[in-house]
Amino acid sequence: MPKTRAINTAPPSGVCPPWCTAIDHLNDAVHQGAPIALTAPGDETGAYDDGEPYALLWAALVCNEGQPTRVYLDALGDASGGGTRLDVAGVDAVLADLRLYADRLQQMRDHLAQITEGEQ
Ligand SMILES: [Zn+2]
Repeated sequence: MPKTRAINTAPPSGVCPPWCTAIDHLNDAVHQGAPIALTAPGDETGAYDDGEPYALLWAALVCNEGQPTRVYLDALGDASGGGTRLDVAGVDAVLADLRLYADRLQQMRDHLAQITEGEQ
């Protein structure tokens, strides 16, 4: 059986891939695409972040030079640094969980609408 050889598709050092939206990172070998975030409504008591909405499920394409491109997903927002680099199968698993969550939240919303119908 012939040996396969990995093909390095990473851009040459100092050159950003077309999807990189990071600015001014000449000395930083981490490329990053435009991020997305699911924003949670603020804490109704105001005890957390003064009740302001806060980012959850922060995600962006990332590529550390010499490593494969991945989706970096951080369930604690954009400042945690405790996220995970996911390949396509990993993103598919998260998407499946999110779809299930959205379906269940929709059911909960519909139930709420039924039991609170007529309330102000
Ligand atoms: Zn870049």
